[in-house]
Amino acid sequence: MKRILICDDSEFVRKFIKRELEGRYEIEIFNDGYEAYEYLKSGDTDFDFAIVDGEMPNMNGIELVEKMKKELGLENIPAVILTASDYDYFKKQAFEYGVFDYLKKPFKSGELLAYLKKFFEGTINRGRVLVVEDSKLQNHTISQQLKLKHIQPISAYSGEDALEILLKGETIDTMLLDIHLPGASGFQIAKALKNDSRFSWIPIIGITASEGEDRINTMNKAFQSGIDDFISKPYNMIEFFARVMANIKRGKLIKKLKEESEMDSLTKLYNRRTVFKFLEKAFANAKRYNQDLSFLMIDIDKFKNVNDTYGHIGGDEILRSIAKTIQSSVRESDIAGRFGGEEFSVVMPNTDIQGAGMVAEKIRKTIEENGVEFNNSTVNVTVSLGVSTIDRKNDTLENLVRKADEALYKAKDTGRNRVCVFDNDTNSISAS
Ligand code: GH3
Ligand code: MG
Ligand code: MG
Ligand code: MG
Repeated sequence: MKRILICDDSEFVRKFIKRELEGRYEIEIFNDGYEAYEYLKSGDTDFDFAIVDGEMPNMNGIELVEKMKKELGLENIPAVILTASDYDYFKKQAFEYGVFDYLKKPFKSGELLAYLKKFFEGTINRGRVLVVEDSKLQNHTISQQLKLKHIQPISAYSGEDALEILLKGETIDTMLLDIHLPGASGFQIAKALKNDSRFSWIPIIGITASEGEDRINTMNKAFQSGIDDFISKPYNMIEFFARVMANIKRGKLIKKLKEESEMDSLTKLYNRRTVFKFLEKAFANAKRYNQDLSFLMIDIDKFKNVNDTYGHIGGDEILRSIAKTIQSSVRESDIAGRFGGEEFSVVMPNTDIQGAGMVAEKIRKTIEENGVEFNNSTVNVTVSLGVSTIDRKNDTLENLVRKADEALYKAKDTGRNRVCVFDNDTNSISAS
């Protein structure tokens, strides 16, 4: 049975945690950080996990964790801090002192158990690192070391292997890359990844065993290839983890910024710029491989009235709800976005005009039939939709968008709450 250290000055919290965990984990409970510290100092340090309160009178949670890590050398006991107040400040401080995670109080029954279960299954970690190293033994050793620090390793044994893992869509926060690999060298792999916008943001730490002048030359070449950080074997473990953690943080941050710049913050759909990026790619593919491609424009009917009646807050709520309906009505390969204001669009690769018309009608009907709850009342809205499909011989991208826009205009003009389709053969628009 896993053994867990619990430390909180509130009797209520202690009882709550005890009731939750008893029987499933072996627990040792303390009333204050100082008490737990004294106990650990006496030699019984055989714990798999620690849950400590942030605020306690004699020694607070962060102090306790710092003492555990630095003074008692208990680096490998992951400690989470319980906190009720000053969340962000606390979080930042806590991580600086080697705290593994923080949990917000009060928690609901079952929450703590679920967290621990996930933790021990290895689902919760401090980051995911792709380890690209051809030596099975070294790859394994690095992976074990990372796991001890609750960093999830993903092993690749060549550059080709690594690329395959990335293309599968694995979440990666940083990459450890052996410079000397069979096949493509670390330099070549770094260059390729840094030239690919899907992966260029992933921080890469190069690893080499070379020494002296050789090391300087290798390092120079590594940075020129786009490698972000560099470490030479044999390395000091403290330096190794400091670099890995710094790069994980950087990777997470860049990924977050990248996602934010691609998304519309209100609806969490792609923004206009990203929709166009996808559309450009889909358009080029459709022409090159002779595939279908359809485009959908959606505009909420009389949305001004909604704002006038329910205010902007209500209007925003409805935009979010409609975005959800659109997203859940399309396929995973379709790209739904917010085109601007109360207008949405969907890029549909490999979809002909009939298919696109059916999706459009499904969206129209779902929105018509499902009101949005706001302030205890149900708001009913409708949308108008315009559908266009690529004419591979004559179309430009602008043309494809213009045709959908014209069809949308026609839908508005002929009564709203309807789908209109641009027919390439007759060059005319009809209701679907
Ligand atoms: P119709 O399209 O049916 O012709 O009428 P409409 O009233 O929807 O058309 P119009 O384009 O004139 O007005 C769109 C309104 O959408 C104007 C603006 O107040 C509202 N709107 C645009 N963006 C947002 C937003 O982010 N939040 C909210 N609440 N309203 C928005
Ligand atoms: Mg090697
Ligand atoms: Mg509009
Ligand atoms: Mg409108």
